[in-house]
Amino acid sequence: MKVPFLDLKAHHAPLIEKFDRAIREVIESSAFAGGPFVESFEEEFAAYCGSSYVIGVGNGTDALWLALLALGIGEGDEVITVPNTFIATAEAITYCKAQPVFVDVDENTFTLNPAELKKSLTSKTKAIIPVHLFGQPADMDPIVEFARTHGLFVIEDAAQAHGAEYKGQKAGTLGDAGCFSFYPGKNLGAFGEAGAVVTNDPELREKIQVLRDHGQTRKYYHTLVGWNCRMDGIQAAVLSIKLRHLEEANLRRREHALQYNQAFAGVDEVATPFEANYARHVYHVYAIRVQERDEVRRRLEEVGIGCGVHYPIPVHLQEACQNLGYTAGAFPVAENLAGEFVSLPMFPELTEEQIEYVARCVSETVAVGALV
Ligand SMILES: *Cc1c(COP(=O)(O)O)cnc(C)c1O
Repeated sequence: MKVPFLDLKAHHAPLIEKFDRAIREVIESSAFAGGPFVESFEEEFAAYCGSSYVIGVGNGTDALWLALLALGIGEGDEVITVPNTFIATAEAITYCKAQPVFVDVDENTFTLNPAELKKSLTSKTKAIIPVHLFGQPADMDPIVEFARTHGLFVIEDAAQAHGAEYKGQKAGTLGDAGCFSFYPGKNLGAFGEAGAVVTNDPELREKIQVLRDHGQTRKYYHTLVGWNCRMDGIQAAVLSIKLRHLEEANLRRREHALQYNQAFAGVDEVATPFEANYARHVYHVYAIRVQERDEVRRRLEEVGIGCGVHYPIPVHLQEACQNLGYTAGAFPVAENLAGEFVSLPMFPELTEEQIEYVARCVSETVAVGALV
């Protein structure tokens, strides 16, 4: 049995006619860059998140970068984030000329450990970017409290957490700004690149709206230097359709996670993901921890099961970040996780048989490993 890591084709198949119709409407109205389809999606996603405003942008990296810029973060400033994330979180900080400062993560949730914040606070610290890794929110209450005490902004990297909740509130609405990616493989994915910033702050909204459109407040009147970070009309039209199916898709992901967890319940060598009691996890990634990680990956690939590692090298040890001066051993929890994670197939259309098969292959591999 072949089990892909992700099957977008299966996810899109039942909606094809709706996509055709929506894309034709965009073509007929020629609203390709920004425009009414983007505005509609912004309103719908704001309502879904329970937030006042959404600003559609080109991708998730734009969302992070523009949120930082709009909050006035720049040269000489430090922004605290975590090393076990996709590089974009740190890139966005660097791209507004600020310095990323990493803190280690909680061993159970893999998200920013609030107890570590104090160590990294300096007079230059301006903001914190917790990452809701794999679809589980970071422990936001102590993070937001720390930020308020020290006058820092909180920008959530919610690129993996569409529909996730913290104490009943949607991820992305807990800080000053929430940043989403609609990269095709995300829980809510476009037919190309797209992203969004979510905020309740009208001034921040306006600033980002101007920044994403060359700093213009009306056509050819530029009040500041911006960039082109607009969302496409076609992406917005597709996202409006897919948003209506997000809850159902997240529920399926949660059911699959439960089935995996149960299948691994008696397998000591496999540590399954932990859902914090404050969280509604939406399993963008279902990552287990195993000692024999590379052996498990090899075996799964051999038998036709797609898998991944998120992420094999923590950001502070990437070649691109050497100038930040971190060395191995700086963040033991994140570094340890990077050596043990394997992400198993996870998408709404997975079947019970496929999950059972994947779990059996993993269990057999670690059991053999344990005998040797
Ligand atoms: C996907 C992702 C991003 C970047 O989003 P893009 O749309 O690819 O630019 C940022 N942070 C995290 C944690 C992500 O997973």
